[in-house]
Amino acid sequence: MEYFKNFINGEWKDSKSGKHTENRNPANTEDLIGYFPASTKDDVNEAVSAAREAFKKWRLVPAPKRGDVLKVVGDIMLQRKDEISFEMTREMGKVFAETKGDTQEGIDTAYYAASEGRRLFGLNAPSELPNKMNLSFRIPIGVGGIITPWNFPMAIPTWKIFPALVCGNTVVFKPAELTPKTANTLVHIIDEAMKEVLGKDYIPGVVNLVHGSGRVVGECFLENKNIDFISFTGSTAVGKRINEVGGRELKRVSLELGGKNAQIVMDDANLDLALDAVLWGAFGTTGQRCTATSRLILHKNIHDKFLKMLTDRAAKLKLGYGNDKGVDVGPCVSESQRETVNDYVKIGLNEDKATLVIGGDYAKDGNLAKGWFYKPTIFKDVTPDMRIAKEEIFGPVLAVLKCSSLEESIDILNGTEYGLSSSIFTNNVNDAFKAVRDIQAGITYINGATIGAEAHMPFGGVKATGNGHREGGWTVYDFYSEWKAVYIDYSGKLQRAQIDNY
Ligand code: NAD
Repeated sequence: MEYFKNFINGEWKDSKSGKHTENRNPANTEDLIGYFPASTKDDVNEAVSAAREAFKKWRLVPAPKRGDVLKVVGDIMLQRKDEISFEMTREMGKVFAETKGDTQEGIDTAYYAASEGRRLFGLNAPSELPNKMNLSFRIPIGVGGIITPWNFPMAIPTWKIFPALVCGNTVVFKPAELTPKTANTLVHIIDEAMKEVLGKDYIPGVVNLVHGSGRVVGECFLENKNIDFISFTGSTAVGKRINEVGGRELKRVSLELGGKNAQIVMDDANLDLALDAVLWGAFGTTGQRCTATSRLILHKNIHDKFLKMLTDRAAKLKLGYGNDKGVDVGPCVSESQRETVNDYVKIGLNEDKATLVIGGDYAKDGNLAKGWFYKPTIFKDVTPDMRIAKEEIFGPVLAVLKCSSLEESIDILNGTEYGLSSSIFTNNVNDAFKAVRDIQAGITYINGATIGAEAHMPFGGVKATGNGHREGGWTVYDFYSEWKAVYIDYSGKLQRAQIDNY
């Protein structure tokens, strides 16, 4: 059985604790993937010191050359796409087609970052004084702490690490405890590309990997004064904690947090299309996406018909190991995640008094008993005040609500603390534009599922979904760089702005 290591200052090494935690396949817990270091504060401190030292050199590597490293990273990921995706399914459970999408998002992000190495545009403005030039351009920040969840174990780390590197920062990466192997693969690939592109000028410590728990390793990131910025994706509870400590320590913090996304279906919609979308949005990745469709808001005129169509299709979804052919839905990622889902089903039945239409139980037939499977679950008669309509469940559970008008549907959609993704199915162009205007979310799809973001577009949410930053595309480069203003006076005399010219 393989024992995996941390990567610090260009070396693969054990944690100073000497301890490990095991990682198992959630579709078959008899399948042991490996042992990963249970790291401590000493490991974090060593990694941060290495990153700090590496920053002195990496910031001076020309940005196009830093981009060249990301180009090679993308090429290697592309060559190894199937193998990376197979292992990702084994590690966290979503089906192979989806893990291939996850890997592809990493590839897209690598190529985008590579090209950004030749842009990183600054802005210039005229000076208010003669014979003087004003420029502004981006500079790196320093050392970043990268903390990521398990549901997109390749895409999310790449969204953060690649732009951070292109901007000239160095990083210490703490992946989720449930997906350490994918993180391991990613860091191996980055290091391979660094060596290929930099050759004898290779700089150890630009990317460091420290495995371990959030409580120990993650917390050490917060207190470490040599970490200048933290980019975090995960739960709102942990995000608030990071924001609190980060605020006190004046760290730059980017937070991508929870969601309670809804799909609206109006009575003029293409129902077949809306059906495919909600199945994909609610049960893809076993509902464990931050952008998962957790609520379905149906116009009363099509409510009963659409619910019947949905129930018939949901009942046919095939559960199983995501690397097996024909499987639609994998397991929950862990036993505790499945328990959370089951607890919410009990809340839906007992506290909320909603009506269970389908599912609502563990799936344990045959080989499914070896994993953390849960039946795709649908509740009807849900009202906006119910907990299953308001709280993030992060599992294959869909709450169906009824509306009578566009305005009411948008009020329901907006009625949670979150604001990540959203969707409306309608063939009325006026209603579509009103929805774009009035829906409170970072992402709105017209006639598309709540999931399916593209790597070159801004990604993130409003309200309790984050703190205003965006990942993806051009917007993320604002988080990973500082602006520097430069004034060049070629007048040969002291010119005082605001004083000498007015
Ligand atoms: P989580 O908050 O439990 O863990 C996320 C990461 O934070 C893990 O690496 C964990 O080890 C670490 N962590 C935990 N406690 C910490 C602490 N005190 N200090 C520092 N780090 C700590 O979330 P999860 O269960 O891994 O992921 C699911 C959550 O992530 C859901 O709420 C989901 O909506 C959210 N998510 C959001 C997005 C987005 O882009 N908005 C994307 C994916 C997932």
